[in-house]
Amino acid sequence: MSKYLSGRLSELVAYVPGEQPKDNKYIKLNTNESPYPPSPAVTAAISGQEIENLRLYGDPECRVLRKTLADYYGVEKDNVFIGNGSDEILSFAFMAYCDSLVGVSYPDISYGFYPVYADLYGIAKNAIPLREDFTIAPEDYFDLKTTIVIANPNAPTGICLTVADIESIVKANTSNLVIIDEAYVDFGGESAIPLTKKYPNLLVTQTYSKSRNFAGGRLGMAFGTKELIADLEKIRFSTNPYNVSRLTLLAGTAAIKDQDYYDNCNREIIRIRDYTTSQLQKLGFSVLHSKANFIFATTTELTGEDVYRGLRERGILVRWFNKPRISNFVRITIGTEKQMDELISAVKEMLKNA
Ligand SMILES: *Cc1c(COP(=O)(O)O)cnc(C)c1O
Repeated sequence: MSKYLSGRLSELVAYVPGEQPKDNKYIKLNTNESPYPPSPAVTAAISGQEIENLRLYGDPECRVLRKTLADYYGVEKDNVFIGNGSDEILSFAFMAYCDSLVGVSYPDISYGFYPVYADLYGIAKNAIPLREDFTIAPEDYFDLKTTIVIANPNAPTGICLTVADIESIVKANTSNLVIIDEAYVDFGGESAIPLTKKYPNLLVTQTYSKSRNFAGGRLGMAFGTKELIADLEKIRFSTNPYNVSRLTLLAGTAAIKDQDYYDNCNREIIRIRDYTTSQLQKLGFSVLHSKANFIFATTTELTGEDVYRGLRERGILVRWFNKPRISNFVRITIGTEKQMDELISAVKEMLKNA
């Protein structure tokens, strides 16, 4: 830290992303990326002439992509916001809607970025404990008088709330905003986007990173009333109007037009997730009921840290969180069936040695 850094930021503890090793010697099951490439339509959209066109700025209003997404999700273009990954959108939303006096509420076990944004913007934090079984109790979020952020499905548990539960929370907080982070919704959850037409206090975020195989492309979107989208646009045009590259805008549009490809990829991930879950259960693991592209698993034979380190020694990266209540779990991204078979073999070997 330099002596020039704002005193306000000196205590800030930044978010720590999962490890991204430079060599390819690991099977990477630690950051919820897809094992599949983007659609061939995406590759076609960003080659040749479009590279030459990089001398030009993109459309700051992202009109083509917003219209394409609006048509696909059954809303209007003015109900769609585009960001450089949904992390950027969440950051904008924290900046816009969580005044320091109002604060923000979220589950105690959830996406690690929420408390970081709160600290970055000096927002009061209210972490609400999950139930003993790691589910969210909707009634804990009624009448909070703070902004609310819920990942649905939640991370790292993978557990999903129904849209009826989401609606009950939104209805019970008419004076404040509810943000539903649907990064994993395409792996078996149900989206709350249709509710944004009925409730002006609901903002739904999604991303291309997980279910559209595009984490490195950095593309996220949010859905809400045109007033909410205008708020976010005000922040975007006050920070970086060209936040999403020309190539990414083109790729994002091409992807939506080849949605069948992604539906197939996601169906395959779901199949492999359920297969991996049953294999781990046969080995005595408890696995939370996941509707995401990862599973959260624990065993009484080994600590979470043992599983994480043992797998790492065997060339497989998973995520371990050294935090209360979940330090005996590991979060395992769903890869190809072959990768998951290697994971299962490694686990068997570790259990034998334990
Ligand atoms: C991965 C993830 C995001 C955002 O990812 P981007 O790559 O920035 O779109 C947001 N929320 C949760 C819960 C995530 O796991």
